[in-house]
Amino acid sequence: MKRVAIVGGGIAGVTAAYALASSGEPVEAVLFEASGRLGGIVETVRERGFVIECGPDGWVTEKPWAQELAEELGLGGEVISSNDATRKTYILKNGALVAMPDGMRMMVPGDLGTVDASSLFSDTAKRAFHEELTRTAELMASAPENDESVASFVRRHFGDEVLDTVGAPLLSGVFGGDVETLSVRAVMGPFVAMERQYGSLIRATRVRATAGTRPVFTTLRSGVGALVEGMVAAIPCSWVRLGTAVSSLTRTGDGWSVGTAAGDEEFDVVLLAAPVDVAGALLRGSDEQAAELMRMEASSAVVVAFGFLESFVLPGGFGFLVPPGGAGDSLLAATFVDQKFDGRVPEGGRLLRAFFGGAVGARLLGASDEAVTVLAREQLERILGPLPGAAVTVVRRWPRSLPQYAVGHLERMAELDELVRGMGRIWLLGNGYRGVGLPDLIRDARSAVRECLG
Ligand SMILES: Cc1cc2nc3c(=O)[nH]c(=O)nc-3n(C[C@H](O)[C@H](O)[C@H](O)COP(=O)(O)OP(=O)(O)OC[C@H]3O[C@@H](n4cnc5c(N)ncnc54)[C@H](O)[C@@H]3O)c2cc1C
Repeated sequence: MKRVAIVGGGIAGVTAAYALASSGEPVEAVLFEASGRLGGIVETVRERGFVIECGPDGWVTEKPWAQELAEELGLGGEVISSNDATRKTYILKNGALVAMPDGMRMMVPGDLGTVDASSLFSDTAKRAFHEELTRTAELMASAPENDESVASFVRRHFGDEVLDTVGAPLLSGVFGGDVETLSVRAVMGPFVAMERQYGSLIRATRVRATAGTRPVFTTLRSGVGALVEGMVAAIPCSWVRLGTAVSSLTRTGDGWSVGTAAGDEEFDVVLLAAPVDVAGALLRGSDEQAAELMRMEASSAVVVAFGFLESFVLPGGFGFLVPPGGAGDSLLAATFVDQKFDGRVPEGGRLLRAFFGGAVGARLLGASDEAVTVLAREQLERILGPLPGAAVTVVRRWPRSLPQYAVGHLERMAELDELVRGMGRIWLLGNGYRGVGLPDLIRDARSAVRECLG
């Protein structure tokens, strides 16, 4: 019987264990998880009628792999979409919330009329949008042969103001990172392909616009945590070792020896789904070059959720983003959770989620829950006005949870793949390599399991 070690029980590791358990193959696995629970950054707290996401609150609908998994787990009836009829995202500008024009796909407007009517952009930025549509040949010619930063890509198309006002906050909201170093090919691949084909991104968006587009986000009524719970129910209990950190990985003849505080164990295959920092350290002894390629910046996130039993008025929409470089302790984003998804609050309640990242997120890792809560409330009230007392408050810190895909990331990962293939019977899973979103992580874990069994 083949023995498989899975290191790390986040969504990547749990999906791998589930795929092995449901493969029908003669296989035995051990899922090593350092902490006392499975799911990693995926965690749903259900308290007093609130469904509170401590990490991801859904996934992008256009990537099918998370929804396919939900359906396979019998959770098809739980799948819900974001309330896109009222979808609006605000940007904090001069202390006030200004709505992004309707129909924007990230920083690319579908309708220039809505941009012209918006107070978010100056006349100079509005002109830049109009001109982009006519610069097809120039934009195609100016595209560099190699990768470039997100900042450089957005600047070439729309200029500095659009980058600072919407480009940077949108990307920081997902990657918590610096647009000057993020790789456009790794984090905005579809836009690079649009530029290659059409030059102008606005033209490309118009050509590709489809009638009756689907809601942007999908989730589960009882929270994303239900995906983990559904998979865990199908994994043999004897496979799971909580509170067991892997401290060494050593190649043996045909397989691997996995070291923990309890000693070493032999396996035929390793699926390494620990965070990329940990994975790199574990592989340093086997391949120094691979470990070097796995060294990357990562940003930390701190999430504070407030559940209110009484209602109060909020601007309609999903929430707001704060452009980087704001005041010292600034939030990065906040979500109006009960407006984004149904079924998140008890009757008449409200749920707000504040998100700190970048330097502020890193600094708050060491602050007490009380200090973080006071700061989050102060920041929200400054923007939204006075808030009632919260019935439920949840604080989560996710240190170095969002790896930064810096310029050249795809090339480095191709090189890493080559080295890892050379090591034999080990696969790298998780958010350091081929995407940070849940659908990508689920797809990758399942395909690694197919390969390792094949
Ligand atoms: C605040 C926030 C919001 C997000 N929102 C979204 C969203 O809405 N949609 C979306 O698609 N994505 C979102 N993401 C991204 C997504 O949640 C993550 O990329 C994903 O959950 C990472 O899963 P993972 O399995 O790669 O890693 P992790 O969840 O980090 O799991 C790794 C596991 O390895 C364990 N571990 C560490 N060291 C060891 C060791 N030595 N031995 C054994 N185990 C070890 C850890 O304890 C952990 O459980 C968000 C991320 C954050 C931080």
